Amino acid sequence: MNLLSGYARRFLWLAFYVAILATSTTSVAQSVAAVAYTVSLSSPELHLVNVQIILPAGAAQRELQLPVWNALYQVRDFAQYVNWIRAKDRSGKPLVPQELNSSCWRIEGAQGGAIVEYQIYVDSPGPFGAQFNPHHAFLNLAQILMYPVDARAAPLHLRFSQVPEGWHIATPLALSAGGEFTAANYDRLVDSPVEIGNFEESDFDEAGGHFRVIVDADPADYDMAKIVSALHKIVAAAISWMNDRPFDTYTFIYHFPHGQAGGGMEHAYSTAIELNADVMKQSLYPLTSVTSHEFFHLWNVKRIRPQTLEPVDYTKENYTRALWFSEGVTSTAEETIQFRAGLIDEKQYFNGLGQEITELEHRPAHLTQSAEESSLDAWLEGNGYYRRPERSISYYNKGELLGTILDLSVRDASHGRASLREILQWMNENYAKKGRFFNDSEGVREAAEAVTHSDLAAFFAKYVAGTEEILWDDFFRPVGLRVQAITNTMPDAGFIASRNFDSPMTVAAVTPGSDAEHSGLQVGDTIVELQGETAGQESRQELARLNPGDTLAVKVRSRRGAERDLKWKIGSRQEISYEVRDLDQVTAEQRARRAAWLKGEAQSATDADASQAGASPTGANPTGANRK
Ligand SMILES: [Zn+2]
Repeated sequence: MNLLSGYARRFLWLAFYVAILATSTTSVAQSVAAVAYTVSLSSPELHLVNVQIILPAGAAQRELQLPVWNALYQVRDFAQYVNWIRAKDRSGKPLVPQELNSSCWRIEGAQGGAIVEYQIYVDSPGPFGAQFNPHHAFLNLAQILMYPVDARAAPLHLRFSQVPEGWHIATPLALSAGGEFTAANYDRLVDSPVEIGNFEESDFDEAGGHFRVIVDADPADYDMAKIVSALHKIVAAAISWMNDRPFDTYTFIYHFPHGQAGGGMEHAYSTAIELNADVMKQSLYPLTSVTSHEFFHLWNVKRIRPQTLEPVDYTKENYTRALWFSEGVTSTAEETIQFRAGLIDEKQYFNGLGQEITELEHRPAHLTQSAEESSLDAWLEGNGYYRRPERSISYYNKGELLGTILDLSVRDASHGRASLREILQWMNENYAKKGRFFNDSEGVREAAEAVTHSDLAAFFAKYVAGTEEILWDDFFRPVGLRVQAITNTMPDAGFIASRNFDSPMTVAAVTPGSDAEHSGLQVGDTIVELQGETAGQESRQELARLNPGDTLAVKVRSRRGAERDLKWKIGSRQEISYEVRDLDQVTAEQRARRAAWLKGEAQSATDADASQAGASPTGANPTGANRK
């Protein structure tokens, strides 16, 4: 455990500071050779953090860079929050930091070492963010810590000072005997989230690993025993599926706010997850699905990693064609892990699949933007227009479905002897464990072809690099399933509105010929009131409750500022959704293939398991049974 009282931390910080001033002993000289960070939690009410970086002796000229992005594939320009920066040499003589660009500073005269200090505003919530307030601090360290450009690979120390009384620190970073956190290099440091506050902690052992569970939430909103019980199942299922545990200790950090919640963020030795407290009270499913996803990332993306993301360039967008695999196939694995863990059943598995197919088919862009292009364009996702259905698809959505149909294709090509599991294990052995990175989609294809001994070029050309319509039934027939289109009559208000964060809802599109258009509603109008109530966060739900024939009353403000009261009747439209269903006749062979597929196992492995257990799947033919 990495818990120390506030008093002990302050004492140790003081001891460290004394040590670096006394430069005569060898043990001290070693600690000076590393880059030393001190993060002072000075003003929780003002969300201000002071950072001190002690640079060891070296080059006279040094550059310090604050990342422009981390975690989210979005440029967030963290330097916008730096209030001031100053520097001095080890004798206390001021050095003047020269700004080279908005995120990079140069100092001269640092040959004997230097001390750099800056103040940064820290108030971005979410598992990707850095937040410091009177309740707690949660820190994505890349958002607040600059790195010396010539020493990003150097070992470093980190300590926290002015930690409010009674707060504890949780992080996957190692804690040295001297009471400071250590990391082999900056990349490892910023892959380690830090929670500081009054959290609840639990821990457990499973599959030879040690797991820490940190929850910072109202105790009335969660049940630690239930969470730990679900985590046991998830980690056991994932570790057995990958037949690998590349860590000794792994840390789960959870926040359950009552407002907006940001989802999950993966790290090599931990994950930070934020879920809405009210959602959590209804079901543990959101927690188990996000947790399964983030936990699987410890392999897929953190260790089985595309070359295009290495080395990380913190100064600009990092373009990769592989997010359909690194994110989307992680979502495929998330479902398999939950099924293996007994957290979802076959019906829930198929429901989820139907929803994913519906989402992809509803976006006209599935015929114009490939999974690879969607991966490259991840950096555009912060823009409203880009997210429109005619402009983009989601690499999570199509990637998850590609994981499913790649799994089924590989089973078909290998007569049931290989599956997605063998692809992932092959990549783990041949890339991750050898310290190599894979060549985006080509690297996935290489693995899929190696485990099937067949040519899968057409699959990757059509569905990964291309935008060919996926013929679902061809993929699902061998497991006795088909995809059924169902037409539903849906209420249609005749317009689409969107809102960005706290700004008011504005009209993005008006359906031509609709009652909304006839009433005078125009693109660009701001919706001020809806059904007599001030428009706000609840307006979307209020609209969703209306039925065809109901009257909608809105007050809108035009782009020029004039307000109008408009009224029209809610219309209807036909909407197609997709469900995954049994074929009229499901053979015993199809059932056996389906059982293996749902468990994420090659069919031969399932048969072996079944015979070991003294039972054999009805009619299963282990050799060549699964041809289309
Ligand atoms: Zn993910």
